[in-house]
Amino acid sequence: MKRFTCSGCSLLCDDIIVRSDGLFIDEVIGSCMKGKERFDQVTSKNRITSPMIRRKNDLQKVEWDEAIKETITILKNSSKPLLYGFSNSSCEAQSKGIELAQLINGFIDSNASICQGKVLNLAKELGINLSTITEVINKADLLILWGANPAETIPRLLNKTLFSRGKFRMTGREIKTLIIIDPVKTASFNVMGVRDIALRIKAGKDLELVRALKEECCQNDSIPSEGVAGIDSEDLKRILLHITGTENGVIFLGQGILKSTQDNVLIREILDFIQVINSKQQKGRVSLILMGGHYNMAGFDHIALSSCGKIGGLQFKNKQLVETEDTIVSKLERDDFDCSIIIGTDVISHLPYTLSSKLAKKPLILIDNHRTATADIANIILPTAITGIECEGLAIRLDQVPIHLEKIINPPSNIPSDEDLLNKIIMRLNEGGS
Ligand code: SF4
Repeated sequence: MKRFTCSGCSLLCDDIIVRSDGLFIDEVIGSCMKGKERFDQVTSKNRITSPMIRRKNDLQKVEWDEAIKETITILKNSSKPLLYGFSNSSCEAQSKGIELAQLINGFIDSNASICQGKVLNLAKELGINLSTITEVINKADLLILWGANPAETIPRLLNKTLFSRGKFRMTGREIKTLIIIDPVKTASFNVMGVRDIALRIKAGKDLELVRALKEECCQNDSIPSEGVAGIDSEDLKRILLHITGTENGVIFLGQGILKSTQDNVLIREILDFIQVINSKQQKGRVSLILMGGHYNMAGFDHIALSSCGKIGGLQFKNKQLVETEDTIVSKLERDDFDCSIIIGTDVISHLPYTLSSKLAKKPLILIDNHRTATADIANIILPTAITGIECEGLAIRLDQVPIHLEKIINPPSNIPSDEDLLNKIIMRLNEGGS
């Protein structure tokens, strides 16, 4: 029995006990159901273990050499390749993905551009107070879930942060206040206690709420008596009392906020609100944690920033990075690509039909470890090992902390890791691609 890190979601729990003889996984102790599913993927029915090529509308198993050769042919005939996904790949694979995009003059983007918006980009201008899970466990006395439902998306987050006793506090749950701001009564509402505050905001009214809170911070009694955004004025005053009086407060921003703010106004206001509170705070501070879902959602932005000096979508021309505001969405909207490499994501299920149908019309190379709706339209499928179980790699946790994922067992049929596969494609292209 040995302790391993779970790569089932971006919390990357490092306290999972696995019993394995190096060939099979016999027992997994301590993971949530989502984590268990991740380990079960090793032997799941939809696991892909051999490369496939679509011939006459049917996917047929082929040898690796043939699949790579056909991949190279598609890439060599392409002038506008699109690379997308990478949130379920290690940082090493993300780095290889960027190298490949540069080599083939492509555009590369990760799931983070849809799921995390441009928060980190804005942080460069506005500044951002981030926190870590360890700091929340040890110090936090106020947790705010805003548009976030960790009970279902990051199942052990509340166990670790809300129900834990910190190193620097003698007390635990009893001194921690939970505030949930959400238009929907999610499963996370079920953990609320008597001193917690549930705020059922009207859908799409978050901007009104944050502006009202900010104004009240700067100028007392500015909250209208009828309340704001469906929340009554007494509750608004209670939230402010908690936020301005906390010793260590953290706001978990979930997909409900991050996804809905492609125009950035809401995120700007939230970052600004936090700065205002912290400038007025006498004894503590408030900070943010961004709740990405996939295990290495945060990684791509770190790799892109460190290798290219830019966060988000990267466009290469003549093997040089060029300025672009494009994301996968704008690229697909304009039909500005002629083939795609999708890695570790089910883009066909996640994107609206108007966009995903465009991907289906052009050659699509899928790199993944299990069958999804995207596999049903892919021209080539290249299977890879499951990172954190069948190969090692680095991932960045949701609080931006790097975590090393270890290998537990060998992958079936000796399939390569995402990193090794991308490296092989790069080497073949460098050799002339035959
Ligand atoms: S919370 Fe996430 S990382 Fe932790 S055990 Fe569950 S799936 Fe794995």
